[in-house]
Amino acid sequence: MSNLCELCENDENTSDFLISGANQEGYVVLCCNCKTQIESEELDEKHFNCLNDSMWSENPAVKVLTYRLLNSLGRQDLLDIMYLEDNEKEWAKAAISNDEKLVYKDSNGVTLAAGDTVVITKDLDVKGTGFTAKRGTAVRNIGLVHGDSEHIEGRVNGVKIHILTKYLKKS
Ligand SMILES: [Zn+2]
Repeated sequence: MSNLCELCENDENTSDFLISGANQEGYVVLCCNCKTQIESEELDEKHFNCLNDSMWSENPAVKVLTYRLLNSLGRQDLLDIMYLEDNEKEWAKAAISNDEKLVYKDSNGVTLAAGDTVVITKDLDVKGTGFTAKRGTAVRNIGLVHGDSEHIEGRVNGVKIHILTKYLKKS
């Protein structure tokens, strides 16, 4: 196995990067530069000209990652000529439809983000815990429930629970 970055062919600080989705997974060797940009979701379009080559990789995980990055960069021209098997396409699209298109909104229609503080607007019986999350309770540092824009997760009375966004108000 080569230790060159499978996207840009640089050999600086390469490491394996897990690509998962749709019950499939595989590894891509990435240099620190590509990895940093992918993790921060701040893509330098010029650097990712390398996707012109990686889209023809024989490693399915590289094709899947390339597809997702081309999608983020809005490069429909390249997506159109890229060839993916059906299962690879499903794998590639798994992350796109789950993470990027869902918008989480509070009871007033204000968009919520991970890390926000919200206030509960209604007394809520919390299933399986035996307590009620009282109206007016502040929940700090919320998380977004993956694949479900109706719920966020947060700690109330020290217990991590899922809460319907329609019973919340961003504070
Ligand atoms: Zn790279």
